[in-house]
Amino acid sequence: MCSAPSAAEAAAPDRIVRVLLDVPLDKAFDYLNPGFTVRLGNRVVVPFAGRQLVGVVSALLAHSEVPEHKLKAVLQVFDDVPLDDASLKLLRFCADYYHYPYGQTVIASLPLRLRQIKPAVTRHMWLYQLAKPIPAEHIGKRQVALSRLVALLNSHAQCSEAQLASAASQWRSLLKPWMASGHVTRQPVPATRASMPSNATPPQLNAEQAEAVQAIVASLSQFQPWLLFGITGSGKTEVYIRVIENVLHTPDTQVLIMVPEINLTPQLESRFRSRLSQYPLVTLHSHLSESERLQHWQAAQSGAARIVIGTRLSVFTPLPHLKLMILDEEHDSSYKQQDGMRYHARDVALMRAKQANIPVVLGSATPSLESWYNAHADRYAPTSSRKKASYRLLTLQQRAVAQAQLPSIYCLDTTHSPPEAGLTPQLKQALTLRLQRGEQSLLFINRRGYAPVLHCAACQWLADCRRCSAKAVLHLRQRRLRCHHCGDEQPIPSQCPSCGNADLRPLGQATQRIEETLQKLFPTARIARVDRDTVQAKEALTQVLSAVHAGEVDILIGTQMLAKGHDFANLTLVGVLDTDSALYSPDLRASERLFAQLMQVAGRAGRGEKPGEVLIQTAFPQHPLFAALRAQDYPSFADSLLQERIALQFPPVSHIAVLKAEATDYTLVEQFLAEISQAARAYLQAHADQLPRQLTVYDPVRPGLARLNRMERGYVLLQSPTRGALQQLLHQVVGWASSHPLQAKLRWVLDVDALEY
Ligand code: ADP
Ligand code: ZN
Ligand code: ZN
Repeated sequence: MCSAPSAAEAAAPDRIVRVLLDVPLDKAFDYLNPGFTVRLGNRVVVPFAGRQLVGVVSALLAHSEVPEHKLKAVLQVFDDVPLDDASLKLLRFCADYYHYPYGQTVIASLPLRLRQIKPAVTRHMWLYQLAKPIPAEHIGKRQVALSRLVALLNSHAQCSEAQLASAASQWRSLLKPWMASGHVTRQPVPATRASMPSNATPPQLNAEQAEAVQAIVASLSQFQPWLLFGITGSGKTEVYIRVIENVLHTPDTQVLIMVPEINLTPQLESRFRSRLSQYPLVTLHSHLSESERLQHWQAAQSGAARIVIGTRLSVFTPLPHLKLMILDEEHDSSYKQQDGMRYHARDVALMRAKQANIPVVLGSATPSLESWYNAHADRYAPTSSRKKASYRLLTLQQRAVAQAQLPSIYCLDTTHSPPEAGLTPQLKQALTLRLQRGEQSLLFINRRGYAPVLHCAACQWLADCRRCSAKAVLHLRQRRLRCHHCGDEQPIPSQCPSCGNADLRPLGQATQRIEETLQKLFPTARIARVDRDTVQAKEALTQVLSAVHAGEVDILIGTQMLAKGHDFANLTLVGVLDTDSALYSPDLRASERLFAQLMQVAGRAGRGEKPGEVLIQTAFPQHPLFAALRAQDYPSFADSLLQERIALQFPPVSHIAVLKAEATDYTLVEQFLAEISQAARAYLQAHADQLPRQLTVYDPVRPGLARLNRMERGYVLLQSPTRGALQQLLHQVVGWASSHPLQAKLRWVLDVDALEY
């Protein structure tokens, strides 16, 4: 395969191959090309620091700045799946914006199999197409099956074997002569699983939906962010489907649909499959095996898959014919990556749409304040800036199914009627009523385990995690204390480690304990629990959900896992057990998240013909959040939150980045952060004429979880009215941090647009 370059090739424009590698340095490395045919974006194998690594070609050059005798040669080239220019451009942007090494950004975007030193194996399937029309007179009157096949081929640019088989079971023998004569041809493409059409007729769009579809379809071939704001059940998914149909109608087009967590919305994939069955569809998410992931990625990258449904990482999938992106539940915080490159898939999607000049639809019942602000910037931005709203807003205010009414929402005041074992008398009564009527209930409590703490009444000792500054959660069935932050486990002590008291008691409520209480209260009720402990296996959640659909469950207990996307027709009661810690949390985003969560859980009730009721236990029924929730009035709630953000100059009104550091010894962290914040302030002073006055560097502080996994943590917050000024400062900060004398003794990361700190 490789031969030494001859003299004639000496100045060839691809003599030097510049390669991106998975190493924590923000540069690419030059290698000699011993005569391979190499393309931009190819995978190559190169020697690096005594090892062999897989890299991606970022440039082909005639000369290198490095003296030639110091260059090593490329060992191997895989011509399997080159990354295209558009993908490299997007990844380059992200590496710059998030201040993460470009090589690591690129390599991390690939499926694991493509990071290994071996050629990618592609599983192929055949697609059939009409090369020239089959004259009607050649199809005899009695050849019904053949005419069905021809009709199918006529109406589709390409047909899979599954599609042909559904038109005529003997399609192979029927098409054989036509393939021999060259009327029908076939070509191999990466395989995808065929979708089966449903017989159900699609619903007639209501006026709001039709308006939304029309607006988006009218400006398909340009960059435009759309915010589709529609309450749960208002038919957002139906809007997506119609717009997608419209796009895919044109050959050589692809759409990317993103969802927060695919395993939690199993209904979505099947809905897209049945409604858009003629278009090859693949999914990309963490529940796939590595070979499935590679196969799906290749189908997307080759253009064979027309629809890609994926979680946040799928935003980087190469899609040569991408014409539309959709982000469902755009407010969901799982779009933010919390380690490695800390990107936000929504922001990356916006940049990608801009680079590709295509629309992006953000859908939610409770949009993020960022998107809400961008859709109303003309209203909120200071009049001086005369900022125009960059997103266009589409609103769906009614539930799509006529009979499905919005649930009634009530607060149960726990100061007047204190809960017993977690349940107020009113909630118990409401549960009893549902059991009598044969209807289903859902109890929502966002804490798994048996009880959040183990407590000694004699000396007030509480069980802590040994590695974190957090309480250890009691898991009674497993007889363990478990930390939900670091995963550490310890046995339950038989007596208080501090005073010897043998009577240790669980304090507070969590899913297991509520389940136990309900089993005692309602011995004949069929109770199911859904949290991360019960549904670790892939199929477990699906099993519970189908049991609920089949009417085999009376009371369902669950964490936020249940809040999303599930439709239960016979569910008429939602009880919310404990929200008060989030109401007055120091985290500015806690109330935004809580509202979204409650709105979503509330959306589970009354999806069918029976009206739903939502009962929220709280000691603060007067809180404005509940008033907005009762009125299902997200706009006024968002408005009040935004006024608060404007007053504090907090995101989305400004932009932030957080420099986080951790070490076993906090004094190192503090010194490192203090020195960098001092340098940053000095820089601001020195550049006061160019940088906005409001650009602020705060003092180092410790986060709520000050110790995690034996590491002492601290951070510095940087806040700026503009992205550009912040980026300029961050560039300096990264330089100082990576050359700081303490940097080898601690770990630091920069989190741009951080959501948690
Ligand atoms: P969302 O995505 O906003 O939660 P969906 O698109 O899932 O809403 O719609 C909720 C339910 O209403 C689904 O069962 C869907 O099939 C149905 N639906 C959507 N649009 C219509 C319509 N125009 N007419 C009748 N039913 C509809
Ligand atoms: Zn004690
Ligand atoms: Zn821990």
